Amino acid sequence: MIRFNGVHKWFKDLHVLNNVNLHVAPGEVVVVCGPSGSGKSTLIRTINQLEPIDQGQLVVDGMDLSDRKTDINKLRAEVGFVFQQFNLYPHLSVRSNITLAPIKIRKMAKKEAEEQAMSLLERVGLAHKHDAYPSQLSGGQQQRVAIARALAMRPKIMLFDEPTSALDPEMIGEVLAVMQDLARSGMTMVVVTHEMGFAREVAHRVTFMDHGVILEEAAPEEFFKNPQHDRAKQFLKQLL
Ligand code: ADP
Ligand code: MG
Repeated sequence: MIRFNGVHKWFKDLHVLNNVNLHVAPGEVVVVCGPSGSGKSTLIRTINQLEPIDQGQLVVDGMDLSDRKTDINKLRAEVGFVFQQFNLYPHLSVRSNITLAPIKIRKMAKKEAEEQAMSLLERVGLAHKHDAYPSQLSGGQQQRVAIARALAMRPKIMLFDEPTSALDPEMIGEVLAVMQDLARSGMTMVVVTHEMGFAREVAHRVTFMDHGVILEEAAPEEFFKNPQHDRAKQFLKQLL
């Protein structure tokens, strides 16, 4: 579903992605961790072309992102993105936040979009909040709406960039539970997170990034029991 082959990217002198090779199969959940500034956000932002790559090859669901003829709108419709900041539209109700893109971009009929929104809200445990505005919700609830909103486009891939980092501790679990449910449903997911409990239980693979390089890539049990590099060992120790 996602193939990075020898991908490089620079921000001026900064080699932010250094020979990244990463393959994600359909239905796989890959967790990306690593120190702040190591390139994790840049890595996942390249997957929906929020950041272009400079060298190498990146293929997402058969679309070659280095090919100028690739339709970015089609790509973005297939790749859902959930950020640390939920970025819901403040002036729209929860339900309208979810129906907006399907109606405008997928040209879905209003009634169908509304039915879909209600079933997605049920899935994230928030059907009773469909009429509320984002400011009336807790952070955890807003993030669950943001996930429902991304799912409304019926993506094939879901990307998460530190989705629980802005949340109060007591709200982290409810968001991770929704993500775990999504993983069980067979969604292909790339998740940047420091929630190692989630990585252990849900991820098929964990990758550790440092200075733009994927230093380690392993099954979670292997990564946590026996990290190969000192940087990874240090990183894991800090999280304890
Ligand atoms: P992480 O998500 O692991 O914290 P990022 O991918 O956000 O790392 O950033 C990696 C490095 O690239 C950092 O040094 C950051 O300052 C730099 N960087 C990120 N975005 C830009 C940008 N648009 N322009 C210049 N430098 C950037
Ligand atoms: Mg980041």
